[in-house]
Amino acid sequence: MLSCIECGRTYDSRNPRWKCECGGLLDIPLNTSFEPKLLKNRPHSMWRYREVLPIENNENIVSFDEGFTPLLSISFGNRKILIKQDHLFPSGSYKDRGASVLISKAKELGIKHIVEDSSGNAGAAIAAYCAKASISCDIYVPEKTSPGKLTQIESYGAHLHRIPGTREDTATAVLETAENIYYASHCWNPYFFQGTKTFAYEICEQLGWKAPDTVILPVGNGTLFLGAFIGFKEMRDGGLISTLPKLIGVQSEACAPLFEGYRQKKAVPIPIEPHETIAEGIAIARPVRGKQILEAVQETRGSIISVQENEILSSLSQMHQSGFYIEPTSGAALAGIIKYLKTLESDELIVSVFTGHGLKSGGKIYYDR
Ligand SMILES: *Cc1c(COP(=O)(O)O)cnc(C)c1O
Ligand SMILES: [Zn+2]
Repeated sequence: MLSCIECGRTYDSRNPRWKCECGGLLDIPLNTSFEPKLLKNRPHSMWRYREVLPIENNENIVSFDEGFTPLLSISFGNRKILIKQDHLFPSGSYKDRGASVLISKAKELGIKHIVEDSSGNAGAAIAAYCAKASISCDIYVPEKTSPGKLTQIESYGAHLHRIPGTREDTATAVLETAENIYYASHCWNPYFFQGTKTFAYEICEQLGWKAPDTVILPVGNGTLFLGAFIGFKEMRDGGLISTLPKLIGVQSEACAPLFEGYRQKKAVPIPIEPHETIAEGIAIARPVRGKQILEAVQETRGSIISVQENEILSSLSQMHQSGFYIEPTSGAALAGIIKYLKTLESDELIVSVFTGHGLKSGGKIYYDR
């Protein structure tokens, strides 16, 4: 079932809708039916949580056996943080979690053609899963997207549309097309978040069915942030974990509408004028689900942190020189960790993430040695 967060109207899950008739966002009700004993003898992929992934027929699952990424301990000064290695997905970012469930659903609905807009990685993930499912796809990206990501999207056989201007101009361009073609949007479409919620399930399983105290994530549209929130809530309500971790979102100061909303204690993001940032994956001036992100921050007693360009660069360089080849957007979360640790007095179990692979942003040197 799909239900509108604005007017409460519900739709059958066989209805190929991505928004309510009133224009509101659709969500899928929480599913608390998962039990760890179901895991016996299942492969280590995100589909091991099958009962809470809303695809009716197994034949429709579009998967590369992705997920269950390593949760590795990395030192920051004298503290250890667990980092989920989500840059190791088949298309090189955690967006594969969402794409696997969303494109499986598209297949289940009998959809043959989709459109999507993205700053790069979501487009690449959707293009990969469409290639596997033989669904034709049109991907809209800002003209300035990293060349590596553009090549990747085209290589999968997607029709690539490069739109001049900002990320918001790209979103506007796709909305017209989305009136007639299924909109496989990682921001609007609720099935994407049903995939990204497996991030939370994997972490709790890897910790022996325990929630961490704090989870620090880069945030733009919140596709990982809200997915994690859904996952942790399902597990808490189902009794698998006893508390929700604090969810901390990190934004680039150059484009920080959520940080401004949080700082000014508002329920919604503050409209801002976006500036250039190397954290292109989170350069989102108008997050569609911004209100939900700020609600998740409040419900988990979390926060939003903003970091400067030079802080992103230095964290990125530090990680590269430790042998982790991640993309610049992932550097933002690390800069957020460093900032958060400075304010921290108690001992906390902190989990963060590498969201994207460095090979995607190839060709540019971002920092001086
Ligand atoms: C998509 C993405 C993010 C975060 O995305 P939002 O959904 O906009 O919050 C972070 N890092 C990378 C590499 C991404 O591709
Ligand atoms: Zn509605």
